[in-house]
Amino acid sequence: MQLVLDYLKQNQSRFVEELCDYLRLPSVSAQEQHKNDVHACAEWLVKHCLSIGLEARLCTTKKHPIVVAKTPKIKSKTKRPHFMLYGHYDVQPPEPLDLWKSKPFEPRIEGHTLFARGSTDNKGQNFAHLKAVEAYLKTNTPLPCDLTFVIEGEEEVGSESLSDFLKTNRKELQCDAIVISDTGMPSPKHPALTYSLRGITAFEIKLTGPDRDLHSGIFGGAVQNPAMALCRLLAQVHDANGRIVIPANIRKSMGLKPGDVVVMSLEDGVLRIESHLARIRRIQEEFKKFVTPGTLASDELIADRREEARREMEESLG
Ligand SMILES: [Zn+2]
Repeated sequence: MQLVLDYLKQNQSRFVEELCDYLRLPSVSAQEQHKNDVHACAEWLVKHCLSIGLEARLCTTKKHPIVVAKTPKIKSKTKRPHFMLYGHYDVQPPEPLDLWKSKPFEPRIEGHTLFARGSTDNKGQNFAHLKAVEAYLKTNTPLPCDLTFVIEGEEEVGSESLSDFLKTNRKELQCDAIVISDTGMPSPKHPALTYSLRGITAFEIKLTGPDRDLHSGIFGGAVQNPAMALCRLLAQVHDANGRIVIPANIRKSMGLKPGDVVVMSLEDGVLRIESHLARIRRIQEEFKKFVTPGTLASDELIADRREEARREMEESLG
């Protein structure tokens, strides 16, 4: 271990120079004009991984390439643990440029701080992991495990190609745990292992209301204001402790299959989550209660419905 630590100390300034080379590559995945730069960055990374003694290759995808690098195979009688290190080499667009004190792709060092786009998200972190492995490999210190780096180029644009890549390479990537190098540390004295990172899901919610202004005295309280309904809908996604209130078994109970479209709606103050198809069927059924085939909705019926909605609203408001 002392050999490894000595190697890290002796090579520190070279590591910083190499990190600066990595940071100079404007691998902005979101901007079409940087497409070639993103590719060049992936190639640079493969070359670098090879130079430190890893087996590395560039995997093309529909969009930006993924870099895979592995520690050399070691023969062992017992099964060695295998860990995957995930990171990304693409960066956020640097705009607005006038808020930068120096050019985003020309690294600037001030004291112990290095400023450049991507330095903390995520080139700096995945490079630190690579340098740690380099120290082991170059000092012939045996690693206690096998490591596979997966460094992608689409993290900042939704990682679209990643799931296909993982599925295709499932067997090769089978591992005991994944270390995500895309986090931070609270201070230079406090290296950290961050856990319980949360996922993300995106919805587009369309709430439609009356197609004209309604008289507040006649319709107020009975017909929901879409802006208010949307607020209530969003407010019900989390409970008071910030937990998502969509039950874990909802997919199963709704008989949803992967790829099904799910609709969230607020009806009579209640948040509903259901498959798009089930919703259409339910609305059709409910509609039948009010209008028998061949009958037009009368003014009386509409007034009844409005009165019913008003009563429900009053009850729900206590
Ligand atoms: Zn990141």
